Amino acid sequence: MPEATNPYRALPAIDRLLADERVAPLAERHGHEALVRISRAVLDEYRAEIDRAGEAPSRPPAETVADRAKALEPSLRRVINATGVVIHTNLGRAPLSAATIEAMAAVSEGYSNLEFDLDSGERGSRFSHLSELLSRVTGAEAGIAVNNNAAALLLALSALCAGRDVVISRGQLVEIGGGFRIPDVMRQSGARLVEVGTTNRTYLRDYAEAITDDAAALLRVHASNFRVVGFAEAAPLDGLAALAREHGLLLIDDLGSGALLDTRPYGLAAEPMVQDSVAAGADVTLFSGDKLLGGPQAGIAVGSADAIAAMQRHPLARAMRLDKAAIAGLAAALEHYARGDATEAIPVWRMIAAPLDRVRRRARRWARACGELGDVVDGRSMVGGGSLPGEGVETALCAVAEPPGGADAFTSALRTADPPIVARIEHDHVLLDPRTVDPSDDRRIEEALRDACAPGGPAGR
Ligand SMILES: *Cc1c(COP(=O)(O)O)cnc(C)c1O
Repeated sequence: MPEATNPYRALPAIDRLLADERVAPLAERHGHEALVRISRAVLDEYRAEIDRAGEAPSRPPAETVADRAKALEPSLRRVINATGVVIHTNLGRAPLSAATIEAMAAVSEGYSNLEFDLDSGERGSRFSHLSELLSRVTGAEAGIAVNNNAAALLLALSALCAGRDVVISRGQLVEIGGGFRIPDVMRQSGARLVEVGTTNRTYLRDYAEAITDDAAALLRVHASNFRVVGFAEAAPLDGLAALAREHGLLLIDDLGSGALLDTRPYGLAAEPMVQDSVAAGADVTLFSGDKLLGGPQAGIAVGSADAIAAMQRHPLARAMRLDKAAIAGLAAALEHYARGDATEAIPVWRMIAAPLDRVRRRARRWARACGELGDVVDGRSMVGGGSLPGEGVETALCAVAEPPGGADAFTSALRTADPPIVARIEHDHVLLDPRTVDPSDDRRIEEALRDACAPGGPAGR
């Protein structure tokens, strides 16, 4: 066979492949060994294809190697959330404030007094760093933070109610998501579930009639991700608190998101506030650190000093404890509330509070990047994360109307941007909401939209 047409000869030697400008720069990131391994495998595959079909795949081997190297990238990465859902569980919930990130970095860089008392020079408790601060912002006597709110609920029931009855309304036996169901958690804790009332209506007297000698607590769970409308009634929290006190029971209140600020000034319905739950007399109030609070992933319990101490002592507290970075981050996030700068500093609140005209101006710029295909339409941003279902903040959206390649191809192209951009589709329109995007990412969004709308892009193809 003449050399020029010998397909085996046309394949590069491994050294040349490794020196290719598409491959060589990847060595710094992934290591020389890994690239040698991938290059060998790719050349073997190309040779096998020549054996089989008489010619090599048309794609240059260097491109195939570069593509394979992508699989070595860390799987978890930053994305741009253009969905308009502020607290998006699939996209990592709350983005953090600059002070929160700084505090987490500061304790991660070196050593810290995580379990060391700097006054006495003796062993301290990691729970000590948050309890007083949690009291200050919620009004409760004490507080504890663990891995997430599901853990906080399991810990509260295990430490305070194991082997005894816990009375709950049938309307509150909810599934939060990801298979997290209140009845399952109760069973896991060893508490006995006593259901009262009906799906839509539960009165205080239903609880009163169900209280036995074996009862330990009344449990209220906020219906955080759905709403019952119409012929519905739930017992008021202060009534439950009085009933619990009368019978010597605890009142445990799982708020889910648990706002520390009033949501109503932003055109939203009232999300139950932690301070109100404490003031109404709940012995333990539970809420997430990374929903409306806007901090790192955590579950928080605040309440009476006795109840919180019992939770701290329980063996599960060790299994659910926070690491130093999360403690530092949560403290920094809570400080925003203590100082009164949460709405400016915490991204979740900044996004909810962003004025509509500013959001609309950004949506217009994004739409212009789409050329003919772009438009601005009215819509609603959702709070998400199990807060305020069916509620939303008025917003302006960049809409790409029926892109020729189809809405699915268009959104999938946006996901290949760096960082990937996540948009949503409604009635064959691709919608992007500036409210949930930090303005520093606008340039990236506009570039990606320009690419995706260009002739030859998925929309122009
Ligand atoms: C979200 C939620 C939880 C679970 O909180 P995580 O922090 O996700 O574990 C528990 N209860 C309610 C009512 C919730 O909304």
